[in-house]
Amino acid sequence: MERRDFIKTGLISAAAPTLILADVETIKRSRNPMALSTWNHGLKANEEAMKLLLSQGNALDAVEAGVKISEADPTIQSVGLGGRPDKDGHVTLDACIMDSQGNAGSVAYLQDIKHPVSVARKVMELTDHVMLVGQGAKSFAITHGFKEENLLTEESRTAWLKWKKKLGKKDDLGPNDDHDTISLLAQDSIGNLAGACTTSGLAYKIPGRVGDSPIIGAGLFVDNEIGAAGATGRGEEVIKVAGSFLIVELMRQGYAPQDACKEALGRTIGRHDGELAFQIAYIALRKDGEIGAAAIRKGFKYALSSGNKNKLHSVKGIIN
Ligand code: ASP
Repeated sequence: MERRDFIKTGLISAAAPTLILADVETIKRSRNPMALSTWNHGLKANEEAMKLLLSQGNALDAVEAGVKISEADPTIQSVGLGGRPDKDGHVTLDACIMDSQGNAGSVAYLQDIKHPVSVARKVMELTDHVMLVGQGAKSFAITHGFKEENLLTEESRTAWLKWKKKLGKKDDLGPNDDHDTISLLAQDSIGNLAGACTTSGLAYKIPGRVGDSPIIGAGLFVDNEIGAAGATGRGEEVIKVAGSFLIVELMRQGYAPQDACKEALGRTIGRHDGELAFQIAYIALRKDGEIGAAAIRKGFKYALSSGNKNKLHSVKGIIN
């Protein structure tokens, strides 16, 4: 193999998937505009994204507009306004966005700003940086016209107080069953891809904790030549395998999106010898419109919209 070819294909292509794929279900879709997102609230996000996509809007505007619906909804306690706070009662948000040119913007540990995805987009478009965090991200947002507001709703505050009352030493890392980040991937009518990912992160996390969602290549990755992938679930574990980047690279090597998602989960399952109590789920959208979705455990759902259909699909967990 020529050195150039080796660099292009990498090592992974030589290896077969390390996981036996039990329920591979490959879903073919047309190349019409489409939106693919995580969890039930993905339905409303898709709906908003599709409004733009069906009126010749671009994929970047669509993913931003889509996830802003989840960020603004106080009943969704895993994203934006009303998100569950950290251990000390502060809502701290992580988000990122990527366009079809490979540009990326990200914010982490952002407080008091309802739409972190839009701040991430401003980082991408107005600066030569990729990521801003904490007070720096907040000052940048305010400079660019974002309003400072309290994001801790009464409902999330009450739940936090209840959790605090029962807090034992073991709870220091927060519960691990909290996982409703929205990742939204879209393809527009000219075939361009974009993605966005936004979350309040793990509930009752250690103050300062940042998960996978704002990390380019972990919570989200887009390569307009190949496809896009997004994650939800235990962020620490997604970061350790660079989950979304891995999925896009596996698709580059010829893996179907579904197989790529399962292979990425297989890396994490393998690291834990199959003994793991947390959830991770991935979604993937290949350039030709084929999609994949897989989860470690049962309970994960994804929302898929194309044409005038927008439906929620359940995914069988790999280990239960
Ligand atoms: N991935 C997120 C994080 O670790 C959690 C989630 O999906 O809600 O911050």
